[in-house]
Amino acid sequence: MELNLKIPGIVKEICLEFNARGHQAFVVGGALRDIILGRESPDYDIATDAFPERIASIFPDAIPYGNFGTMLLLRGNTKIEVTPFRDDAPGRKPNYTFGGTIYTDLARRDFTINSMAYDPIAGGFIDPFGGLNDLKARTIRCTGSTRRIWEDPLRALRAARFQAQLGFTIEPSTLYSLKAYAPMLATISRERIRDELSKLITSDHPFDGLVTLVVTGLMNYIIPELMEGMGMRHHNKPADVLEHNLLACKYVKNSFHLRLAALLHDVGKPRCAVKGEKGLEFPGHHLKSVEMAKHILNNLRFDSRTIKKVLLLIEHHMFVYSPDSPLSEARRLISRVGWENIYDLIELRMADRLASGFNEAAGPGLKKLINDLEALKKENSDYKIKDLAVSGKDLVETLGIRPGPIVGKLLNRLLDDVIENPELNSKRTLLELAEKYLKEESYED
Ligand code: ATP
Ligand code: MG
Repeated sequence: MELNLKIPGIVKEICLEFNARGHQAFVVGGALRDIILGRESPDYDIATDAFPERIASIFPDAIPYGNFGTMLLLRGNTKIEVTPFRDDAPGRKPNYTFGGTIYTDLARRDFTINSMAYDPIAGGFIDPFGGLNDLKARTIRCTGSTRRIWEDPLRALRAARFQAQLGFTIEPSTLYSLKAYAPMLATISRERIRDELSKLITSDHPFDGLVTLVVTGLMNYIIPELMEGMGMRHHNKPADVLEHNLLACKYVKNSFHLRLAALLHDVGKPRCAVKGEKGLEFPGHHLKSVEMAKHILNNLRFDSRTIKKVLLLIEHHMFVYSPDSPLSEARRLISRVGWENIYDLIELRMADRLASGFNEAAGPGLKKLINDLEALKKENSDYKIKDLAVSGKDLVETLGIRPGPIVGKLLNRLLDDVIENPELNSKRTLLELAEKYLKEESYED
């Protein structure tokens, strides 16, 4: 079959070079799929009958990459992974043997939409498994048979991830095998699970992919704690606790930290549930959610910066702000979470509201906060102790006190004053205030 696909010149040149040296070279995998879909691809996969040493002799700058004989070529910002055809029979523990043909190579790929090949020089399109039809029908289907999932359970997560990224439907038999082999996910490393989950949630359709993880039972092996909320009704929300978390992930804008925070923002609710007058109540669920999210994120081997930011968002997302809140409330919030997080926090709160059935993302309180933040930008302050016109050293030197906890206590009190009234933030005024506080109260070491 002939197709005229737009392959970048740089990728064609590499294929041409292989041809000139007597080798076959095909564009394969995700990049080919994305080109047909009209999506940009930052990296390309080439499959060739040349073995790794031969690839290295044709392209001396090729870098060995991974375990499968792949050689990486860097051309500007474009990454091209060149992999020899694989010939191993599919199975649980394949030995990676090179050789075979483009057909044996395609046969051991995961899904039909990823199992096509294109020769950009001759223009030949090879599609033994009906990938193009499935691409048109927006379907994710195992290549050959659903044994593919049993062979490598990571493919189950890849299916849900492609569903989330592409907005495709998983074909029933493939979906069935996701459920059938879900327990095998326990054999996959937490890091690989983390990477797939990260791609899934930072996609255009995170809710769809997450629902697949839940209904197939895969979620039991990823974040089992989330499953505790299934079927648990909040008295005033349209969804149960689990769906509420998934919906928040859908409604929040596409940013990695926000999506992760939204997914886990109420994860602690089920363990706090008690029967109240109007139904279930969840006293203390914020702190519980923070504690459990910390465990979950560590368990999935997320890095400490990610964990810190996600926990901060979860911890503070229930901040109180009403149309009557004074400007000082907004300053205090910035002091607690920082300018770098305040808008993410608002985003999370808005997603939480939408997931709770509110029609409007921002209510009157949130709207007021957004306005107030505009006004506060002019004050150009982080509302931290470092922003005070006096330092601890100033207090020690001027007031004749000894360095120690007393200094910190005074500085915190002064910061409180400045947050209430920024006009107080001059060295003279703050020293006067500090002196007064020293007399008024016993500031003991
Ligand atoms: P993306 O680059 O967006 O993650 P992709 O489809 O390109 O998506 P890669 O992990 O880059 O995925 O892999 C490239 C190709 O290698 C895939 O399209 C698929 O043909 C094959 N492949 C990758 N992982 C597997 C796997 N676990 N089992 C079978 N084939 C796989
Ligand atoms: Mg890829």
